Amino acid sequence: MTEDADTATHILIVDDDPSMLLLMAHLLEPLGAIHVTTRSNQALELAEAIRPDVILLDIEMPDTDGFEVCRQIKAHADLVDTPLLFITLHTDAPIEARALTAGAIDVIHKPVDPDIVRARVRNYITLKRQGDRLRRLVTVDGLTGVSNRRAFDIALEREWSRSGRGVGPLALMICDIDHFKGYNDALGHVAGDDRLRRVALELARHLRRLPDLTARYGGEEFVLLLPECGSADALRIGEGVLRGVSALGIEHPTSATAPHVTVSIGLAMRHPSHRSPQDLIQAADEALYRAKRAGRNRLETADDRRQ
Ligand code: GH3
Ligand code: MG
Ligand code: MG
Ligand code: MG
Repeated sequence: MTEDADTATHILIVDDDPSMLLLMAHLLEPLGAIHVTTRSNQALELAEAIRPDVILLDIEMPDTDGFEVCRQIKAHADLVDTPLLFITLHTDAPIEARALTAGAIDVIHKPVDPDIVRARVRNYITLKRQGDRLRRLVTVDGLTGVSNRRAFDIALEREWSRSGRGVGPLALMICDIDHFKGYNDALGHVAGDDRLRRVALELARHLRRLPDLTARYGGEEFVLLLPECGSADALRIGEGVLRGVSALGIEHPTSATAPHVTVSIGLAMRHPSHRSPQDLIQAADEALYRAKRAGRNRLETADDRRQ
């Protein structure tokens, strides 16, 4: 994702009182796209879909109260950083303390003052934006725009645990550009950097599902992490990547493999003999080594019997 891929601001308001929703929507409309629901038991689902920049939540609601909705949102890895404000008739300290302890960033009292509410919400949106930018900086590779090594390490640990709980298979590919040293030597590092970017974009294009990850592992090596992906699908995606990179037609004057830039791929599926995520990486790395030795511009799969 690039720096300003999605600059639209989204605000989610949850209140069982439709007149309150109307009022708040009207007040906050200048700040961004407004999404509302009177059904608190749909709040989490809606938030998952919208990924709002701020959530305003009533406390007293018939199906699920605001505290419970807050708990659900704060327990969700992708929503935990969303600023959440309670709107309530209560002015007593214990309720306010409970709201803040539950993870709310602020409490707004009804009846609301339009100017104060708008100013507060705007400030929290600014904070959220700053946080997003920092999170992106620590997770995205500066040169290529795909995830960085740190984000990959975290994702691999998470998906390793998930697949260990029986969620499904886990596929990992290491993808290394062929003869890239020669490319830099012939055309210079600036051109090399540009080609790295183009290859990274091509890799990312082949991964479409939300939990899939493309990351720069180091230098001219990338990893593709595919949770809940069986070996047949992983193989199909890998073959697609090989063809896709070749089809970019990036001229490579010194490659002994092809007149254009190619990659070699090592694919490994999590296997019972793997005791740690590092064993899975090792298996993919060994497969990559075989792909290199077998002539490059090809994919090799880790051999289960050798794992
Ligand atoms: P092989 O086909 O065996 O993978 O050969 P190779 O030349 O790609 O492999 P080697 O590991 O010998 O060299 C990797 C080269 O990748 C070294 C360096 O010139 C290049 N490289 C690594 N990181 C970067 C980078 O950030 N920018 C540029 N332009 N080149 C890089
Ligand atoms: Mg209410
Ligand atoms: Mg390499
Ligand atoms: Mg290489």
